[in-house]
Amino acid sequence: MRLVRIRCRYCKRTHCYHPSDLIQIFGDVDVDSLMDGMKCENDPSHGRLDVEAFAPTGREAVGLRIRRLVALKVQRVPIWREDPA
Ligand SMILES: [Zn+2]
Repeated sequence: MRLVRIRCRYCKRTHCYHPSDLIQIFGDVDVDSLMDGMKCENDPSHGRLDVEAFAPTGREAVGLRIRRLVALKVQRVPIWREDPA
């Protein structure tokens, strides 16, 4: 089993994700593209996050908390233009 560990250097918080969840958001991209795509959940201005794929050993996997994707909210952005006169 491979997981992805993502860490914010400022918050010093680490979350583990299932690659299948990340693929739903970003598509089947490599780790480098994830660095650009992921934002700190505390503060998006924290910049690039440390992203690392890893395979937890048996001992590591015990009690490992994995952040699962609950839903993907699609933001509706209105785009306007004047009617031609
Ligand atoms: Zn942060």
